[in-house]
Amino acid sequence: MSIKDNLENINLKIPSEVSLVAVSKTKPISDILEAYEYGQRVFGENKIQELVEKHNKLPKDIEWHMIGHIQRNKVKYMAPFVSLIHSADSYRLIKEINKQGKINNRVINCLLQIKIASEESKFGFTETEATDFLNSDEYVSFKNIKIIGLMGMATFTDDQRKIDQEFNKLKIFYEKVNRSNSGINILSIGMSDDYPIAIRNGSTMVRIGSSIFGKRNYIKK
Ligand SMILES: *Cc1c(COP(=O)(O)O)cnc(C)c1O
Repeated sequence: MSIKDNLENINLKIPSEVSLVAVSKTKPISDILEAYEYGQRVFGENKIQELVEKHNKLPKDIEWHMIGHIQRNKVKYMAPFVSLIHSADSYRLIKEINKQGKINNRVINCLLQIKIASEESKFGFTETEATDFLNSDEYVSFKNIKIIGLMGMATFTDDQRKIDQEFNKLKIFYEKVNRSNSGINILSIGMSDDYPIAIRNGSTMVRIGSSIFGKRNYIKK
């Protein structure tokens, strides 16, 4: 199956109102160009250096999304062009993104990453922390960042029921946040192995890598 065939298959399986982020991390420029030729314009990366290199080499109408955990001292490299940061997972990071947005004279769109998995290794805000942040004076004072949705990653498990429960809990929280904050209307949940469950739980944006580009041959750290 080619990258184009894979994209076609996935587009048949996701409703038209759900947007697709093609996760191209570790994959070469030639693979991204194949997806681009098919018509895909939104790509996600999880490392800033790789994101910057690919942005420099590829057509400028690509929307680049940052989906991985971010070191604050590297935000400056992507701030001029990144179109959505899914992984805003701490107050200090958001403060830095706002600062870099100001330096670049733009508003950087972000999703608040919510910790829904039971694994200790996953990052993110609790529901209470997210609500407190959205209602805070600091957030009001951040003029160069806009929170436009929520992102979550389910526990890495084969237990479909557990994944469903985690996504469902986030869906309920998202609906609450969406009702009380205008401009929050993205729910980024769903990867190659769990996007059908995510879509059943109200996903508006899926982040799919290996089902488009094939397995990644590196050890995930
Ligand atoms: C790698 C990654 C994905 C895509 O994973 P696949 O299983 O290859 O679809 C989605 N979201 C995040 C945050 C990732 O790091």
